[in-house]
Amino acid sequence: MKFKYLFGPVPSRRLGLSLGVDLVPYKVCSFDCVYCECGRTTRHTIERKEYVPSSEVLEELKLFMENPVPFQYVTFSGYGEPLLNSAFGGIASWIKDNIERPLALLTNSSLLVYPEVRREASLCDVVLPSLDAATQSVFKRINRPCCGISVKDIVEALRCFKREYPKVKMALEILFVKGINDGDGELKALKDAVEYIEPDEVHLNTVDRPPADDVEPVSRDFLREVAAFIGGRCVVVGEAQGRAVLEEERLKEAVLSVVKRRPLRVEDMSRLLGSDIRLISKLIALLEKEGLLVCEVFEGQRFYRAVEVR
Ligand code: SF4
Repeated sequence: MKFKYLFGPVPSRRLGLSLGVDLVPYKVCSFDCVYCECGRTTRHTIERKEYVPSSEVLEELKLFMENPVPFQYVTFSGYGEPLLNSAFGGIASWIKDNIERPLALLTNSSLLVYPEVRREASLCDVVLPSLDAATQSVFKRINRPCCGISVKDIVEALRCFKREYPKVKMALEILFVKGINDGDGELKALKDAVEYIEPDEVHLNTVDRPPADDVEPVSRDFLREVAAFIGGRCVVVGEAQGRAVLEEERLKEAVLSVVKRRPLRVEDMSRLLGSDIRLISKLIALLEKEGLLVCEVFEGQRFYRAVEVR
């Protein structure tokens, strides 16, 4: 079955095997992060509307559930910011009523400044908001937000969310980019913000796939030092553990589906799809020959990306 709005299940480094639900078209986002693995934002907006029809998303979810492969979470994520879709609340409610898996949301946090959006986000069991900077100047450099978005308001909104909906688990993500948000002043501001927000967990991450701009990751040692500096709630994000068991005839479609979302290495795809690495390598060579995949080298590693992503 070829889906337009669902992808995976894919192994999320933070959630295990995750069925992705994508609620906005390619790169509709309120941010244009320098590290974005989906490329540059093409529609930079803070306007909420039904960017993709909720009826079609629900139809796909019903079809998927008729013959599901193993997965642990349903996760809103994908090409842009999920909360920009004004039908988010209705879709989240349907999933909670019809799919017996925890519901997760990856968000850049920008829309959480609105109380009604916080209420919709609270339908999820786990919310994983990003906060890569705590000062406006670094926020603008790393996330390139739509004008008018203030990181101070976002920090306040995250604190409100945690207090308004204490039962929703909040795992804050901070992604570090070398030379941008790794200075002492920013680290202190981030530590203060974390103490103010009081999330359940803080996930520390860095660039590990080809980014939108020519930026570099920080080291693992740096992330460990930051974890010690910020304190007990911090986890350094590791490798994905999940494993999907897919039938062989679905493998080609599955490879294309996962690399449409983000660039992956052969070993990632092998682990992700639960398939032999030699079979995946052979399949990738065929897909490259057909012009459906391209290879990009980042930090000495070969990543594959789908050519047609729209
Ligand atoms: S990383 Fe997320 S928030 Fe940033 S530009 Fe990409 S999709 Fe938008």
